[in-house]
Amino acid sequence: MPRAHIFLAAVILLRASTSCTYSETRAPLAIPFSGDKLIALTFDDGPRPYVLLGTKGDHPTTGLLDTLDNNGVKGTFFVVGWRLTPGTWGEKRHEQNIGVTCIDAAQQAVKRGHELEDHTFTHIELRGAEKTKGEQWVVGDVERAAQAIKAVTGIQPRYVRPPDWSISDDARLDLERRGYRVLTISAANPIALRDVNSLDYLCARGNSTQCPKPSLAGAVLKQVQQREAKGIYTHIMVFHELSTTTAIMPELIASLKARGYRFVTLTEYMRLVGSKPARTGEIARSRVPAALKGSQ
Ligand SMILES: [Zn+2]
Repeated sequence: MPRAHIFLAAVILLRASTSCTYSETRAPLAIPFSGDKLIALTFDDGPRPYVLLGTKGDHPTTGLLDTLDNNGVKGTFFVVGWRLTPGTWGEKRHEQNIGVTCIDAAQQAVKRGHELEDHTFTHIELRGAEKTKGEQWVVGDVERAAQAIKAVTGIQPRYVRPPDWSISDDARLDLERRGYRVLTISAANPIALRDVNSLDYLCARGNSTQCPKPSLAGAVLKQVQQREAKGIYTHIMVFHELSTTTAIMPELIASLKARGYRFVTLTEYMRLVGSKPARTGEIARSRVPAALKGSQ
């Protein structure tokens, strides 16, 4: 608990114990949020070895794994299944080959305590794919990625983030029946369980005129403040495996720590915030996650 909260709690307790009539004669004090302030940092579209492990040469960059480790943060990586085929290192057109395969980079991430989850095998837009290939193909694309992840890490992924959050209700329900939880930006879910889109892809090299102003880190912090104003102190943040994103992480993590946030993997986040059943309707009806009600 942050020191300010401990102090306030002490004041409230002291007042309650020294003045029996206090609570009867005055309106109840507004008690600030005293639960965990949590952030799950997530990174889509990898594994990209040159981002995860950094580059050497004329313009060396620190890897995302070192950056997270140096800050004591565990991240969650939504990886694309095709990258986890033997010998694959990435896409020639956009990425740098540092002589490490995606499989090796993924294994390093897991060895260092980070988590790998499912971003489909092909990274295709699933609603469109369902129209031409059918719902079973969509489910199969997610399962195929899960198998690839399990083959590399030994761990079965539980969470799926569809590319662009695009998936039909039928496919989502089918995946949920198979034990997956599908991440969403849908307003049908409590805010704490909706992904926070950082828009970091707008800051990727060659795209920087679109980058949120005055800075990506500033824009992300603004989103956090806006959610805090609604009483939400837990956030699943969506980034991508990009060098530009890696570069802002130290500043962003420091700012969020200064605001009292603790960083957790998505599995830990869901254990603490979203332990309700995965069905959208049930989550929507419960409105406030159990952890925020203080029942856990
Ligand atoms: Zn993606």
